Amino acid sequence: MRSEELFSEAQTLMPGGVSSPVRAIKPYPFYTRKAAGSRLLTEDGEELIDCCLGYGPLILGHAHPAVREAICACTEGGWLYGTPAEKELTLARMLIADHPSVDMVRFVSSGSEATMAAIRLARGFTGREDIIKIEGGFHGAHDGVLIKAGSGATTMGVPDSAGVIPDVVRHTLQVPYNDTETLSALLDNNENVAAFILEPVLGNVGPVLPDDNYLSEVRKITQEHDVLLIFDEVITGYRLGIGGAQVKYGITPDLTTFGKIIGGGLPIGCFAGRRDIMALTAPAGPVYQAGTFSGNPLSLSAGIACLQQLRDHPGVYATLAENARTIQESVPSAKADGFVSLGSMFKLFFRKTPPRDYREAKQSDTEAFAVFWNKMRKEGIFLPPSQFETNFLSVAHTEEDVAAIAGAYSTCL
Ligand code: PLP
Repeated sequence: MRSEELFSEAQTLMPGGVSSPVRAIKPYPFYTRKAAGSRLLTEDGEELIDCCLGYGPLILGHAHPAVREAICACTEGGWLYGTPAEKELTLARMLIADHPSVDMVRFVSSGSEATMAAIRLARGFTGREDIIKIEGGFHGAHDGVLIKAGSGATTMGVPDSAGVIPDVVRHTLQVPYNDTETLSALLDNNENVAAFILEPVLGNVGPVLPDDNYLSEVRKITQEHDVLLIFDEVITGYRLGIGGAQVKYGITPDLTTFGKIIGGGLPIGCFAGRRDIMALTAPAGPVYQAGTFSGNPLSLSAGIACLQQLRDHPGVYATLAENARTIQESVPSAKADGFVSLGSMFKLFFRKTPPRDYREAKQSDTEAFAVFWNKMRKEGIFLPPSQFETNFLSVAHTEEDVAAIAGAYSTCL
């Protein structure tokens, strides 16, 4: 197999043979030659229906014509200026219009950069040092958030990364998701908390959904304690609808981080929020943040084209949710209670009930998941290769694709 040969050499060139840990599928990952619509074509000549979608950004599917045209048109005019360009204003206007909580934005190059800067900004604004995150929440791979981190960090068994010094992480406190009592108690006893950062829907242990009123309680408690609320909408932004989780659940966070979909599949990140807080960002204020590739025209072009498609066709969100339900209905009844979906995010947890937090998600039978994943792969369906990553659908998945995915779920379980 060509993938096996490539991976064998890659392991001598790159640690673990990959550019990001979640890609290190055992015994070797398939290599993708190209992708279009809902499909990946591998170096081994296989065609797979893709439910990973680059870990979320590709809500329009691969190589969507409108996004491709925008990228190609942009290359005609060069792809890095080191000066402002009008496209920044266009994407900023869209994000501000779609999110009532957002007055101002700063573009960066990844979701990790966005959360790192948002946390720094929260500390700069409040003059306090601690942050609270959710156990199993993933906000990228920077030091302050790499404890009990979800996503690849949990899959690989390193939720607490080596090399992160205790002095840094002693300022990162943790609470379970869906647990407002622990959050309240922690805030009652600590006046040094700058911000509470959370994924409103926990996407990095598979989708874990908020209990009724959890997010509104979180907003109330953070407000009562004068602590900033940061919604990390890197996954949920434009995935759960125009306006993401905050509009869906009617919550107004102080700051929001975006990534993934807002770049249409090209690298991007963004932190955004209240004008009085954002105004502390350099050069307007003393909280430093900078980047060579920030607001680069290619990512902006792809992002604008992607968001425009979604705004022009808002009905796609209902179709995506309907398609996820079709898949859900195909799960045999013995396993059905472990299935979770919200819009186009879905996952089958190998446990009896949908998890309410990280601890429960980790009780899933990961060996059974691995067997299932391999069977699905043989059926031509590529799911993210971890029990703790969300599956996604795109508007490029046709009725036939959805039927094939649903059929594979019923065959492979
Ligand atoms: N925040 C969340 C919720 C994420 O899911 C991710 C990545 O998966 C990040 C932040 C980091 O984004 P990036 O991989 O673009 O650095």
